[in-house]
Amino acid sequence: MEKKEKKFIHIVRMTIRHPEKVNKPINPLIKKPDWIRSKLINSQEFFLTKSIVNQHKLRTVCQEANCPNITDCWSKRHSTFLIMGEVCTRACAFCDVITGKPKQLDSLEPVKISSAVKKLNLKHAVITSVDRDDLDDGGANHFYEVIIETRKNNPETTIEVLTPDFLRKGDSYKKIIEAKPDVFNHNIETVPSNYRQVRPGSRYLSSLELLKNVKKIDKNIFTKSGLMVGLGENKDEILQVMDDLRSAEVDFLTIGQYLQPSVKHHPLDRYYRPEEFEELEGVAKSKGFFLVSSSPLTRSSYHAGEDFAKLQRNKINQINA
Ligand code: SF4
Repeated sequence: MEKKEKKFIHIVRMTIRHPEKVNKPINPLIKKPDWIRSKLINSQEFFLTKSIVNQHKLRTVCQEANCPNITDCWSKRHSTFLIMGEVCTRACAFCDVITGKPKQLDSLEPVKISSAVKKLNLKHAVITSVDRDDLDDGGANHFYEVIIETRKNNPETTIEVLTPDFLRKGDSYKKIIEAKPDVFNHNIETVPSNYRQVRPGSRYLSSLELLKNVKKIDKNIFTKSGLMVGLGENKDEILQVMDDLRSAEVDFLTIGQYLQPSVKHHPLDRYYRPEEFEELEGVAKSKGFFLVSSSPLTRSSYHAGEDFAKLQRNKINQINA
């Protein structure tokens, strides 16, 4: 393809997906190191997952956020459902999900998710959403409906939600706690000094407060949060985030490499080496998290089912210790 043609396609894609980023400066992409390569698995299970997602007309964050683990996860029938549409009302500088004005909620979505979970025979289902600042409750009631309906048809399946921050939505998040998900995940994403640039529509302390309140209200729900590295943070700041999350009694921490989706997204500062992830994992464990997953390709929903089983085991071991 000609250089000019490529540039034109890129501008069209950006205008459609991220209108707010069109006038942003160009941040050249940095070549990925060897340890970032995603696995190429061409399995029947992958295509089965794909067909079930398509048949139910569902969205997944695996596709919408261009996740590098998609072939690996879908080959194990694990996909993370994206509810409340594919258009997000925030414009985070790191994220590849489409930004704009979302459509009305699909009242049949809880039934569709529940049916897809059954067809995929999932032991552990992960459900996330775009930010819906346009809704009075931020979408908390819709999350509630999805959890209840999914559990009704899949009583043995454990449910993990990865939610927005419900900023300026009062107590609406409590509706989700009422539905008793097994894991309540909310990603802190980055260190506080990066928030203005990376997560301009969000507030570090509000995200922490949400996690803290979930645990305060229901101690039986595991809480989880994720941090990306490579956005220009320093080590002290990472350690401070770990301490803040522990103060909020967060059980499970995930740490993964930020991958810059396009030249108009937040610039990548650097790729962390695998041994740096191991070191961060060791430090986080010493701070008392029940579980820590830290590697270049760790994402908050990567290996979520296996990790949930480990979380349960670790909790039992700690109680018996
Ligand atoms: S890591 Fe999460 S978002 Fe990525 S493919 Fe796996 S399930 Fe999907």
